[in-house]
Amino acid sequence: MRIEHLINGKPTAARHYFETVNPATQEVLAEVASGTAQEVDAAVRAAKDAFPAWAARPAVERANLLRKLGELISKNVPELADIETRDTGQTISQTRNQLVPRAADNFTYFAEMCTRVDGHTYPTQSHLNYTLFHPVGVCALISPWNVPFMTATWKVAPCLAFGNTAVLKMSELSPLTASMLGQLALEAGIPAGVLNVVHGYGKDAGEPLVAHPDVRAVSFTGSTVTGNRIVQAAGLKKFSMELGGKSPFVIFDDADFERALDAAIFMIFSNNGERCTAGSRIFVQKAIYATFAQRFVERAQRLTVGDPLDERTVIGPMISRAHLAKVRSYLELGPKEGATLACGGIGSTSVPEAMNQGNFVAPAVFVDVDNRMRIAQEEIFGPVACLIPFDDEAQAIRLANDIAYGLSSYVWTENAGRAHRVAAAIEAGMCFVNSQNVRDLRQPFGGTKASGVGREGGTWSYEVFLEPKNVCVSL
Ligand code: NAD
Repeated sequence: MRIEHLINGKPTAARHYFETVNPATQEVLAEVASGTAQEVDAAVRAAKDAFPAWAARPAVERANLLRKLGELISKNVPELADIETRDTGQTISQTRNQLVPRAADNFTYFAEMCTRVDGHTYPTQSHLNYTLFHPVGVCALISPWNVPFMTATWKVAPCLAFGNTAVLKMSELSPLTASMLGQLALEAGIPAGVLNVVHGYGKDAGEPLVAHPDVRAVSFTGSTVTGNRIVQAAGLKKFSMELGGKSPFVIFDDADFERALDAAIFMIFSNNGERCTAGSRIFVQKAIYATFAQRFVERAQRLTVGDPLDERTVIGPMISRAHLAKVRSYLELGPKEGATLACGGIGSTSVPEAMNQGNFVAPAVFVDVDNRMRIAQEEIFGPVACLIPFDDEAQAIRLANDIAYGLSSYVWTENAGRAHRVAAAIEAGMCFVNSQNVRDLRQPFGGTKASGVGREGGTWSYEVFLEPKNVCVSL
C-alpha cells in the first residue's frame, strides 16, 4: 500500500517514500510519501489559496461541515482504531474506546464553539473599544507519534473551525490515520485545500513547513528539543508549543490509598507509558512508602504485555526500535545511578510467538530513587516508574518543582487545605487533585517551563488560531 500526500484535495506523489512498520511485528504496513520543501510549498500554496473563501464562510456553515467530519470519524471508529493500533502499538482498548472517539468529540466541540466566538468591550466616556477576532491564515500543525490521531484532530478542529486553513504533518512513525483524516474531511464536504496533509521527516518536511513565510501560526506537539529547533527555524510566528514532561504524582500518607494506587498505575503505564502527562515521578510520603512500593510493584508485574490488538493487553510495544533502545538505556542506567529496579527490565517480557520481533518492554519500577538521578529528571517516555520517598509537604513541593519540565501534576491527600496549597505551589500547567488526568475540552491544556508555551482548549485556543483586533471608536 502507498500513502500519498493530500494537497489541494488530491493525492500527490513524492519522489521518495519511507516505510511505516507495525511495532508489534515489524511488518511493513505501507510506503509513505516522504515530503520535501517542494511538496510543502505546494501544500502551503493550496492552503493559502483556500483561505479567503473558507474564512469568509459563515461560522455556522463551517460548523456543519466539521460536525459531519466528527460523524464520519464516529462511523469509522473500528477501522481507524485498528489502523492506529497497528501503526503505533497503542492498545486497541485505548484507541477504540477512548482515543478515536475523543477525536470525533474534538470536531463536535469546536464546531459548536466557533459559532459562539465573542469579543470584549471597553467603553469610556469619550471612546468605545471593542475586539474582533479574525482567523490567522495558514497554520502548520505538527503532531508526534504518541496518540497521533487524537492529537492531530485536537489541532485541526479548532484551526478549521475558526476559519484558518492547515497543512498537517504527522510523525514519520505514525502517518496512517492522518491520511484517512484528510480523505474523511473531503468526504464531509470540507473544500479542497482547507486541510492538506504532508508526510515526511522532521528535517525534510517539518522544517520547511514551519519556516515557510506564508505560514502564520505553528501548533506543535512533540519533544522539547524539537520545539526549540522549530522556534529558531520558524522566525516570528504565532506558536503553541506542547512539549515533553516528567510530571510529579504526589501521594500524602492521608490519601485514599487504593484510589491513589489505581491512578498511579494508570498514569504511568496506560498508553504504553508513551504519554506526555505520565505521572512518571511518584513521590510517596514515608509513612506509607514501603507498603505502597510493594503493592505498586505487585500491580505492575500483573499488567499484560503483548499483542496491542488483543482487548486484554494493557501494554503494547514501544513505537520503534530506536525508542525501545532509549527506554532500555534508562533501565540500564538506573541501577548504575543507585536506584533499585524492583521489576521489569531487559529480557523479562514474555510475549506471544508471533510478536517476538516486537519492541516490547516489561513494566518497570525503580524504587528508592533520588530525584536528582537522570532516570528521575529525563523523560523516558515508556512504562518506567520512579518511586521517591518524601518527609513532609515542604519537601514534596520542593522535589516536585526540582525539574526542568512543568506539564502536568497530581496530588493525593484527604486534607483539603493541603490539596489547594500544593496545587497552587506546583510549577505545572495542570494539576489534578485526587484524580488521574481527566480532560475537559474547555480547560487550558499545556505546560510551563520546558513543557511548552501557550495553551489550547476552549477559548484558550484563540491564542494560537485567532488574531484579536482592537477597534477604538471616538464617540
Ligand atoms: P519529536 O519532537 O521527535 O517529533 C514531533 C514531530 O515533529 C514529528 O512530526 C517530527 O517529524 C517533527 N519534527 C522533528 N524535527 C522537526 C523540525 N526540525 N522541524 C519541524 N518538525 C520537526 O517528538 P516525538 O518523539 O514524535 O513525540 C514524543 C514527544 O512529544 C515527547 O517528548 C512527548 O512528551 C511530547 N508530547 C507532548 C504532548 C503535550 O501535549 N505536551 C503530547 C504528546 C506528546
